[in-house]
Parts: sequence; C-alpha cells; structure tokens
Amino acid sequence: MSKRFGLLGKTLDHSFSPEIHRMLADYEYQLYPVGEEQLAAFLKETDLDGFNVTIPYKQTVLRACDEVSETAQHIGSVNTVIKRNGRLYGYNTDFYGFFHLLGSDHHYKKALVLGSGGASKAVQAVLADCNIPFVVISRTGENNYTNLSLHRDADLIVNATPVGMYPENGEAPINLEDFPNCRRVLDLIYNPLKTALILQAEALGIKAENGLKMLVSQAANAAQLFEHNIYYVNRIEEVTDCLLRQQRNIALIGMPGCGKTTVGETLASISGREFYDCDRELEKKLGMSIPEYFETFGEAAFRKEETKLLLSLSQKTGIILSCGGGVVCREQNLHALRQNSVIVHIERSLESLPSAGRPVTQARGLIAIAAERMPKYEAWADVSFVNDEPNACAKQIQEAML
Ligand code: NAP
Repeated sequence: MSKRFGLLGKTLDHSFSPEIHRMLADYEYQLYPVGEEQLAAFLKETDLDGFNVTIPYKQTVLRACDEVSETAQHIGSVNTVIKRNGRLYGYNTDFYGFFHLLGSDHHYKKALVLGSGGASKAVQAVLADCNIPFVVISRTGENNYTNLSLHRDADLIVNATPVGMYPENGEAPINLEDFPNCRRVLDLIYNPLKTALILQAEALGIKAENGLKMLVSQAANAAQLFEHNIYYVNRIEEVTDCLLRQQRNIALIGMPGCGKTTVGETLASISGREFYDCDRELEKKLGMSIPEYFETFGEAAFRKEETKLLLSLSQKTGIILSCGGGVVCREQNLHALRQNSVIVHIERSLESLPSAGRPVTQARGLIAIAAERMPKYEAWADVSFVNDEPNACAKQIQEAML
C-alpha cells in the first residue's frame, strides 16, 4: 500500500501543498484542517505515515513530538513530522527552504529580517549558519520601524512578515529608497507573486525573489524525509517553474480591436483557465455600455473605474485577462497587473483594426491613438505575439507561456 501524508493546520483553504506534493511525488497527500480542541486526538490517533504542519500548530506539535531534530529545536518549531511505530519525529524544513532560496551568495555585510515570527526564526538560523550578520526588525523590538535609519547600510532585506500578502496586496513593510546599499530582496510571500516590495525592488534595479522557491524547497525536503529519497530535492527548480506558470495570469494588452478578447477566449478554452474581459466586466459593473458611460460621465471617470476593476481582478491567479485598449493610460494599472501577470502585447497591423463601437478610436482616430499608446504597449509588455489569426496566436501563447 502506498504511504499517506498530508498537511495539518487550522484553516487550509488556499494551501498550495497538495499541488506541490502531487508534482513532486506519487504518494497520497491531503489537507487535514483540525480545530484546536481536536489537535491532541489527531496527533495521537492519526494513521498517516507523516505530515507537514502549518499555522498555528508548529510550536504545539514540537512539544508533542517524541524526538525533535536539532534544527527544529533551535528554530523552536516543527513543520514536518514522521510517524514510526507510534512515535512522532519532528523536523523543520523551512530552514532548508530558505537556505535554498538564499542560494550560494553569502557575501552580505548586513541583512535586515523584517518580522520575528516562525518564518523569521528559520531565516535567522540560516543567516547565522551562513555567517551573514543580521538585524531583526520587530514592531515591538529594540530595532523597529521607527529607527530603521540605523540600518541604512543593509545590503540584503528579507521580508518575513505577512505585510503585502493577499488580500492586502499593495502594502509594503518598508520603503527601499531608504536603503541605498540594498542589492537583494527576498520576500517570503508567494501570493501575490510580486508584492509591492518586490515591485519597488525591480523598479530600483534591485534583484528580488518571492517565496515560491522556498515553499517548494521545504516541501521537497519534507518529501525527502517522508520517503528517505534525495531524488525530490533535484526537482525543486522544475516544480517551482511549473507552479509559477500555473499561478501567474496572462494579461493581454494592445490596440483597440487587435483581438485581445478573441485570443483570450481561445487561450482560456484550450488551457482550461478562467477568462475575464475587462471591458465586459466593466459594462456589467457600470450597468451600461462603455460608449454610453463615456457619453454620460467622460473618459476620466471611466479610467478610474477601470483601475478599480483591475486592482481587484489582478488579485486573482491563474487567469487569462483581456485588458481594455486604454489600460496603458494609467501607470497604476501597470503595478496592478505586474503583481501576478505576465503582460502580453497582442500586435496587429493598423489597417486591420476596426473602430466601430470604440468611442476613443472614433473620437481621436487610429493613427493618433497608435502614436500615443504603441510605445507604452511595448514598454509594459514582457513579451509580444502577432495576431494574424486568433487560434494560431492563442496556440503560440499557450506553447510559450503556459
Ligand atoms: P507569523 O509567525 O505570524 O509571524 C509574522 C511576523 O510578522 C510577526 O511575528 C510580526 O513580527 C510580523 N508582523 C505581523 N503583522 C505585521 C504587520 N501588520 N506589520 C509589520 N509586521 C507584522 O507568520 P510566519 O509563519 O512567520 O509567516 C510570515 C510570512 O512568511 C507570511 O507571509 C507567510 O506566508 C510567509 N511564509 C512563507 C514561507 C515560504 O515557504 N515561502 C514559509 C513560511 C512563511 P513582529 O511582531 O516582531 O513585528
């Protein structure tokens, strides 16, 4: 009989763990949401061969284990348990997860670790192990957010707080402009894929990574412990890339009439993803057609509504999103999209673009709009595809991006 594993926690609705373990291995892996009053019974009676542990039980489970690894003892929490002959053996694979995310560059003069919770403890243990000097910034500690200027010389910043995590997208714990020496940012958050902190780092030319690789690495290390097999840790890059492709949105931008909606619908249908057309969603929300809204309230009011909608749609993951032609009119929209999307420019020759039912195109003319917007489409896009025929274009995007 194949072995059975799972994830123990309190609320596990949005957990990536089953998907990661499914990609890594072929054992059974399920979610076990358990209330505090049932925890003791679960630990005593479970017939699983092993399990991972998440918030809020990492410390309680450590105390319940018969034996605990030195690393887990040092960090003060257990996230992986193996059950053997009725005895519980506890480990902490977040250590390995962060070690892998950090990689081989350990030449930092000062790291700042934001937050002092469970993940921060694993980060601190790794930094100490790698001889990287660090300071923990805690809201209630001696080093806190009111005296950050003492640490302007930090060259590595690790966010181990939930600030900026879904659904609080857009929040950032610090302003990176205050750290002129910073050359790398590691944000342990993986939803959104790019937090406001990561987006700011990218804008400042600082290398930045999210917590997805740490998540996969800690799972691979757990799988290795579950099955006594080193094979899993060799698959970290492949599984991280696969998860990234699954999670990220494809946001289509381009001139009005370039075929974003048709290409998007086709792409959604061949890939089995959800599809959202911003203009259609706006019409539903506004209760009237876009030409009517323009006529009644004007373009400025329309653009504000469009940004509000994009901020909300951009919080979703794994979707295909067709944006209105004028999305590039507001820089805020770029930040909203970049959180979770790869931005794809759909190109089509000007002569083939229709203008019927498109108020901005009719008012200003295609040539003027193209002159204004084409440089922006090109600057915003991560990649471009030519739409000579929508099915072929959708297929090309699927092959390259999904
Ligand atoms: P935790 O134990 O609750 O600790 C979070 C810490 O962040 C708190 O101790 C607190 O430290 C600080 N914090 C909380 N709310 C804050 C706020 N509003 N403003 C500023 N600081 C705040 O949580 P955790 O398990 O360490 O997780 C922290 C983050 O890491 C989460 O986003 C989680 O998703 C992520 N994580 C990722 C991975 C991965 O594999 N990628 C693994 C574990 C965790 P102070 O009170 O000292 O300020």
